[in-house]
This record gives sequence, C-alpha cells and structure tokens, in this order.
Amino acid sequence: MRKIVIAGNWKMHKTKQEAEQFIDEVKQLKTNERVEAVICAPFPYLSSLVNKVKQTDVKIAAQTMHFEQSGAFTGEVSPVMLADIGVSHVIIGHSERREYYHETNETVNKKVHAAFSHHLTPIVCVGETLAQREANDTLTHIEKQIKIALDGLTDEQIANTIIAYEPIWAIGTGKTASSADANEVCDHIRNIVAKITSEQTAEKVVIQYGGSVKPENIDELLSTSDIDGALVGGASLEPASFIQLVEAGN
Ligand code: PGA
Repeated sequence: MRKIVIAGNWKMHKTKQEAEQFIDEVKQLKTNERVEAVICAPFPYLSSLVNKVKQTDVKIAAQTMHFEQSGAFTGEVSPVMLADIGVSHVIIGHSERREYYHETNETVNKKVHAAFSHHLTPIVCVGETLAQREANDTLTHIEKQIKIALDGLTDEQIANTIIAYEPIWAIGTGKTASSADANEVCDHIRNIVAKITSEQTAEKVVIQYGGSVKPENIDELLSTSDIDGALVGGASLEPASFIQLVEAGN
C-alpha cells in the first residue's frame, strides 16, 4: 500500500515568526504510518523549522535547489547544504521555477540525481499548460517530462521519487482538474514509469496532484486509484486547513 503524502508549498510567503507559529499550531498533528506531512518552506526558515519539528510528525522540505554540490553560483543553495541542516525533501521543477527561472527537463534530471546523492527525497513536478491541454498534448508533454526527469535513475531511486502532477492552469486559479481527469493523468504517469522500470516499481511511486487543492476537494481526489497525496499552495498557508488536508489522508 502506497503512502499518502500531503506537502504544503508555502512559496514566497510568511515571516519567520509566522512560519514558526504555524509549526507550533500543527505540532499536535499525528500522522499514521500511511500519511506523511511535509512543509516546503522558504530557505531562510529551513534550519529553524527543522529544529522545531524534531518531536513532531511534520517533515521540512526546500522548494528548489542547485544540482552542483558547491561552486561559484551566487545566490544558490546546494543539496549538500540542505542535507547538512536536516531537510528531508525538495521540490524540483515546479512550474513557477520552469517558467521564471528557466528550469528545463534536463536541469530537473540533474537535480533529481543530486537529491538522491544527498539522501533528499525529490518531489518532481510535471504538468501541462492550458494551451497544451486544449491541443490534446497533455499526455505526450507529461511523458516527455517524466522520461527526462527520471533518466539514469535506479529502480530503487524511482520507487522513492515523489511525482507531483500539477496542471499549470489549475495552480492558484481556483480551478481544480476534476478528480477523474487528474486521476487519468496520474494513471498515465504510472504507466510511463512502468515502461521505464517495471510495473512493480511503478506501483510504489507516490503520485501527488496539485492545483487548487483545498479541504473541500481533498477527499474526492484521494478516493481515486492513482492519486496518493497533494502538493498544496494557497490552502497550506493556514494551520487549520493544512491539518484538515493531512487528516483527510489519515
Ligand atoms: P495552489 O498551488 O494549491 O495554490 O494552486 C499549488 C502549487 O503550486 O504547488
């Protein structure tokens, strides 16, 4: 049975005090063996939040990173640094990174390898634009993103990769893909992974849906065959709503 992973992606929100207060409020959250709760926080707060969640069931993730271990890359953060401070997960290739910071399928692949070299669990984002969906290009586009992202990984690494399917037109817009449509793409993703590795490995991969997920639609999304959690932006900013989302997976 696959885990359910609920990851809150705070993006560029919150002061340090707000971030720490959030953790204080979600501290009592008890997950069971099946559910994992992850907060993807801005870089300046990671270290302090990692310390704050020590006695809790919440894990802390970064929202991006560089693929090199160190070097002359002004402003960047390396996988070594994230592992050093105790971060457990990292989002890779979020559509906002692809759009505004020129991340490509190839850099995503390098980052996924770098994450595994430093024992970080990658949350790899894929998803189509509205134009691609309307042109019936969704499945081909996603297939390309997945194949390049996972290129060169071992079966074990693929089994431990979290894939987040986030249709770009559904992010922050209030438009959620219907659970049937989202599940269809997640099922397609699992089939692509099975072709790259094996059905057995593909069955182990956690596939999240992301794009306007909220407490009102999480149950329906999680009731499908292939959606194993959610990557949540807006609705992860309030402790009460994050708790509801995690509890939906319990
Ligand atoms: P949203 O963002 O939940 O606010 O749509 C999701 C994401 O970008 O990961």
